[in-house]
Amino acid sequence: MPLLCSLVETSKASISKDIDRAVKIISQEDLVAIPTETVYGLAGNIFSEKAIRKIFALKQRPFFNPLIVHIHSMAQFISFVSEIPQKAEKLAEHFWPGPLTLVLKKKAIVPDLVTAGKDTVAVRIPNHPLTLELLKKLDFPIAAPSANPFGRISPTSAEHVAGYFDQNLEMVLDGGECQKGIESTIIGFENDEPIIYRLGSISQDEIEKVIGPLKIKNKNESAPDAPGMLSRHYAPKTKTILVEDIQASIQQFSDQRIGLLTFDQDLDHTSIQHKIILSKNADLDESMSKLYAAMHHLDSLDLDIIIAQLFPDVGLGKSINDRLSRATKS
Ligand code: AMP
Ligand code: MG
Repeated sequence: MPLLCSLVETSKASISKDIDRAVKIISQEDLVAIPTETVYGLAGNIFSEKAIRKIFALKQRPFFNPLIVHIHSMAQFISFVSEIPQKAEKLAEHFWPGPLTLVLKKKAIVPDLVTAGKDTVAVRIPNHPLTLELLKKLDFPIAAPSANPFGRISPTSAEHVAGYFDQNLEMVLDGGECQKGIESTIIGFENDEPIIYRLGSISQDEIEKVIGPLKIKNKNESAPDAPGMLSRHYAPKTKTILVEDIQASIQQFSDQRIGLLTFDQDLDHTSIQHKIILSKNADLDESMSKLYAAMHHLDSLDLDIIIAQLFPDVGLGKSINDRLSRATKS
């Protein structure tokens, strides 16, 4: 019955590299998932209320969580922020295009819906050739929060995005696997002093090499400045725990079907159904780039429990531990 079939058929997000089609869809106030070096984003025109509302609706993201504005040039940067502290300028010059987001006082032109009514705006120039090309073809910036339902694991491949939004999204611009693999590092300014709002794929040490020592902001859960700072976030559906002594935990849960996520350790036990060693050479960059894909994969295996290993608390290990600890909060 072809008629019935066509009635029940639902559209599927097409995964493609067609930038002109992405330009067309975004220009018509709809959304496209875009690749960045951090994670895939759900992108819409910051000046389209329709597009921005659709981002919040698809992600089921609360309106109090502001969005990051993605731009392609310093000229655009200047047109959306009203004050640029010297250290912000230094950071932008050093890290852009790249996984650094700056939160600065906004100009009136930036819509309140994008900034959740705040007088600041979060901005970055992403470093992905397809997305930079897309941004250059648009005469407006795009808001692009991670392309996952609120609280879930961020997508690092086009397939992850399609797995989340297949029926509700026309297109995923396919830029392959994200190189960095976790979200950007967010830096804000209070009384001209820089503060890390969210640790991400640039480590605190790297930031400090450019602008000297800075603090990490403590978050209050009910009024987070950055929702990445909510205590439960980036979470698999499978029960997940984060432990230092992985051997002891395997013993403790030996009656269960275990998925193992380790930094460099290789362990065997009959209860381990699947194990992922993120970096046999104990490389933090490599681990970070593979982290979310590993979590997506383990979460798809219908296991009883995922046991994740705590990383060394240095450099990018701190960012990885931040994501793992939020993924494992109940
Ligand atoms: P996501 O793209 O989903 O990883 O989230 C964007 C991040 O940027 C969130 O953690 C936001 O809270 C943060 N952000 C966006 N705008 C602001 C702002 N004006 N002040 C503080 N944080 C912001
Ligand atoms: Mg997110």
